[in-house]
Amino acid sequence: MKVKKNLTLKIVIALILGIAVGSIFNIFEGNSFVQNTNQYVFNVLGQIFLNLIFMLVVPVVFVSIVLGVVGVGDPKLLGGIGLKTVIFFLTTTAIAIIIAMALALVFKPGAGQGDLLNSDEVKKYGAEQKAKSGDAEAPENQTFDQTLINLFPKNPMQSMVEQDMLPIITFAIFIGIGMIALGNKIEVVRTFLEQTNDILMYIVTMIMNVFAPIGTFGLVATAFTNAGFGAIKQLGMYFVIVLLALFIHFFIVYGGAVKFLAGKNPLWFFKKFLPAIAVGFSSSSSNATLPISLECTKDMGVRKEVSSFVQPLGATINMDGTAIMQGVATIFIAQVSGIDLTVMQMVTVVIIAVIASIGTAGVPGVGLVMLAMILTSIGINPAAIGMIIGIDRLLDMTRTSVNITGDAACALILSEREKSKLAKN
Ligand code: ASP
Repeated sequence: MKVKKNLTLKIVIALILGIAVGSIFNIFEGNSFVQNTNQYVFNVLGQIFLNLIFMLVVPVVFVSIVLGVVGVGDPKLLGGIGLKTVIFFLTTTAIAIIIAMALALVFKPGAGQGDLLNSDEVKKYGAEQKAKSGDAEAPENQTFDQTLINLFPKNPMQSMVEQDMLPIITFAIFIGIGMIALGNKIEVVRTFLEQTNDILMYIVTMIMNVFAPIGTFGLVATAFTNAGFGAIKQLGMYFVIVLLALFIHFFIVYGGAVKFLAGKNPLWFFKKFLPAIAVGFSSSSSNATLPISLECTKDMGVRKEVSSFVQPLGATINMDGTAIMQGVATIFIAQVSGIDLTVMQMVTVVIIAVIASIGTAGVPGVGLVMLAMILTSIGINPAAIGMIIGIDRLLDMTRTSVNITGDAACALILSEREKSKLAKN
């Protein structure tokens, strides 16, 4: 399914309408018509949108991580430039999320908790998680040994039913390793999973096309009816911090990498890549931008054997912009909900976001599905993504441009550094 052309416009209109209607409703908060409309119309529309996203979390995480492991473990990839590509991708993603979390910790976009979401709901979820684990300790205070043991599922099906993300990831990694070991013998399973992934990505796009504008309206209208125009301050801060982290990563990390690892002028690189950046921005899809990204790197003189391998791989396993949104969003949601994240939880977020970026296809909105998974994995109510989903489309556009620029920077660097080796072949 193709992303509809005027979708962004529709979402932006829904966003503005949601802010306007919600802010007016907030003034007449006590009125029963306002209360009923908020509860039975805005809230229902928003919650359906959220549920549609949650519906996909377990299958998307499982299938994309299995396929990611199988892809990365491909013997062709482990030799030569394959390994270097994967190292570049994973390192830059880790840097991206660390920058994002550091900025969110310093600027505290979610300070002044409770405005955007009923924080009681989030706390109740934490208590339920605690009760479920049958542990006297709250999940965030779990001891290191317990956390380690819990990574390995006794019963993977139970983990899936309970949306317990870390053991699901471990299970998916094991299945991936098994599939690599059995190679050609399990062609049918591999095809089955690849096709399942295609179906899931079709559904993500369909939900975005059909439901995102209505859902955005519902969520934003509820947030503003409950919190009033003041909500815009917190959301605005979140938005600005994500943009700031994206800009730092784009100009400093990629610019620096291009300068010092490829010996090229970063401005020349950004200028040559501008057409792809523009398409990434308007389509919000790394996959859809691939043909034009490849054209741009060809124009830079990147060797075809490098670009045709690095960039398609990057569209699925390298999502630095997405990791940035996830890093800021996690800290922001924790701040708004009055939850103090431990260092251990933050480290978990970095590791999970890096793993999550592997194998997730570059389609609009998929970063949100993965964010729900990240929140669940550190014991935060995934419903909290409702706070930021309303303005996510605008950030999705920007982070997609960053995602594809990372792939192109890697292709350029490897093409330059491996020039002599490649020329011999
Ligand atoms: N839209 C992004 C991409 O295609 C993924 C995401 O962050 O949702 O790269």
